[in-house]
Amino acid sequence: MLNAMTVDLEDWGQAVLHPGHKITSRVAANLDRVLTLLDRVGVRATFFVLGSVCEAFPRLLPTIRDAGHEIGSHGYGHELVYRMTPARFAADVRRSIQVIEAQIGQRPAAYRAPAFSITRDSLWAVPILAGLGFRYSSSVFPIAGRRYGIADAPRFPYRWPNCELIEFPPATVHLLGRNWPVCGGGYTRLLPAGIMTRALRRINRAGHPAVIYFHPYELAPGEVAAFRREGSRISWRRQLTQELWRSRVADRLARLCDEFAFGTLGEALASIAPALKEQSAGLDSQQDDDTLVWAAS
Ligand SMILES: [Zn+2]
Repeated sequence: MLNAMTVDLEDWGQAVLHPGHKITSRVAANLDRVLTLLDRVGVRATFFVLGSVCEAFPRLLPTIRDAGHEIGSHGYGHELVYRMTPARFAADVRRSIQVIEAQIGQRPAAYRAPAFSITRDSLWAVPILAGLGFRYSSSVFPIAGRRYGIADAPRFPYRWPNCELIEFPPATVHLLGRNWPVCGGGYTRLLPAGIMTRALRRINRAGHPAVIYFHPYELAPGEVAAFRREGSRISWRRQLTQELWRSRVADRLARLCDEFAFGTLGEALASIAPALKEQSAGLDSQQDDDTLVWAAS
């Protein structure tokens, strides 16, 4: 079973503190750590890149492409989708596509919303993404999160009704009547490693691929303190929770890559394409885990 390894390319300050925060050169140094790690474990990933980061540091995108990874869009300015109007969202995503096309001459097939901010309040974003030519997205977290998530969204790949866009949600486990995030971002830092491996085994044994995600800054211990020294206002509590156990993320990712097979989002979807096609023939809308076409009404 081929799982999908995904990376959201962004700088910590702009992603966590404020979208308008200065983009620092740390994003470039952190990307180098990620590329070195992926090269060492022999995994190709999908990088969801921010247009603003690629503009600030034009060498990044060609470097990622030359290392053989897939390039997807993470939008331009890392604004939450549900805080934007549809017109502003469309302009943001279009701008990100233009940056990618200008820098590497490719139009991205994959999209991920900043902070998984496609929720019930922003489902209008789905036809816009399809209209902009995206073929797949990994933007809806099927959990009841505080800031994101659609609790009853399917956990495995599905096609949105009335368009060709496929949603490939980040990995979750279903336990005690609800879905829980298991792999990615802060969860990779903070959860016991055994939970991640058991969850991925369980997902793969049930015949499904999993999507895991992380950010380059998570491989950089001590970075939040550097932001603070440079004048960013960060509470001690936030510094602690954001820094905690960053030092073990690289090791944990490497170990996951030892046990499980990973590729790009496009490759993982292609590996289940025959099954997806077969199921879609008879289904219109249904709300269980194997749902292929899901009407989020
Ligand atoms: Zn992000």
